[in-house]
Amino acid sequence: MADQQNIGFIGLGIMGRPMALNLLKAGYRLVVFDIVPEKVQALVDAGAKAAGSSREVAEQAEVIITMLPDGPDVEQAVLGEAGVLEGARPGSILIDMSSINPLTSQKLAAACEAKGVEFLDAPVSGGEPKAIEGTLAIMVGGKPEVFERVKPILRAMGSSVTLTGPVGAGNVTKLANQIMVACNIAAMAEALVLATKAGLDPEIVYQAVRGGLAGSVVLDAKAPMVIQRNFRPGFRIQLHYKDLRNALQAADSLKVPLFLTSVVQQMLSALINEGKGDLDHSAITLFVEQAAKVEVKKAS
Ligand code: NAD
Repeated sequence: MADQQNIGFIGLGIMGRPMALNLLKAGYRLVVFDIVPEKVQALVDAGAKAAGSSREVAEQAEVIITMLPDGPDVEQAVLGEAGVLEGARPGSILIDMSSINPLTSQKLAAACEAKGVEFLDAPVSGGEPKAIEGTLAIMVGGKPEVFERVKPILRAMGSSVTLTGPVGAGNVTKLANQIMVACNIAAMAEALVLATKAGLDPEIVYQAVRGGLAGSVVLDAKAPMVIQRNFRPGFRIQLHYKDLRNALQAADSLKVPLFLTSVVQQMLSALINEGKGDLDHSAITLFVEQAAKVEVKKAS
């Protein structure tokens, strides 16, 4: 049973909801907020206390967690009107677990420091299934002593919790993760499209390669979804577009050309224009299929 620490949780979407539920299961007292009231009610039904704003969350918690779509959302929830910094007490800790631009993490940390509030950026990988299991990979940036204080809390949501460097390092690590995942899905899409157009059963091709060097966590998570034509998110194309945009911006400022990332980013952009931004990122396959005029599915 966790000690009776009050934890605030802001952002109860695909990821935030199961992460918050795991904190409740671990015995923490939780106060929660989301701009969508039904999402708050779902957590209240599970034993959390509702707050009417991010400020109200911060007023009642020693540790405040945010799990929001993008940097501007986190800035709004933390720095905006009725935001976290209007309510947070000196000595409290803000952990932003959203995937955002590392420069925004550093801006948030500076604003927190001015109020005596500690800050960690702690984005996650593993998607909804691992958020539900409590086995996320959590990559953290911030001071080692602050990290040690909140490690038990992070452990209630993730099986791998790693301090990667100072504030911003968690999100740089997450960008590296997102580059690998996006390029992996795009390569898988091209491979399955080729095999299908050659007349093979993509299910058999997937089973044949998954034990070899091309096998991966990405392949095992996404190939079955494509073959079953299930593009329910999961991880939305919109969000992966945002991550690659942040990766390209960070790379530009460091003068690092990212060739593959740029191409996959254009595929995501085209899919969003076609109204597919809310599909799972495995739907990158739809872009490749359209160019090849073939649909990857199990032979009937
Ligand atoms: P989501 O859109 O499902 O959830 C975001 C939630 O934040 C929503 O419930 C929304 O109502 C709420 N929200 C937005 N602005 C708010 C505000 N100002 N105040 C309070 N609540 C607000 O997104 P998600 O899939 O849960 O992703 C959250 C973050 O986690 C993103 O940065 C994403 O890139 C990252 N992530 C997602 C996955 C995944 O598989 N879904 C995996 C790893 C990381």
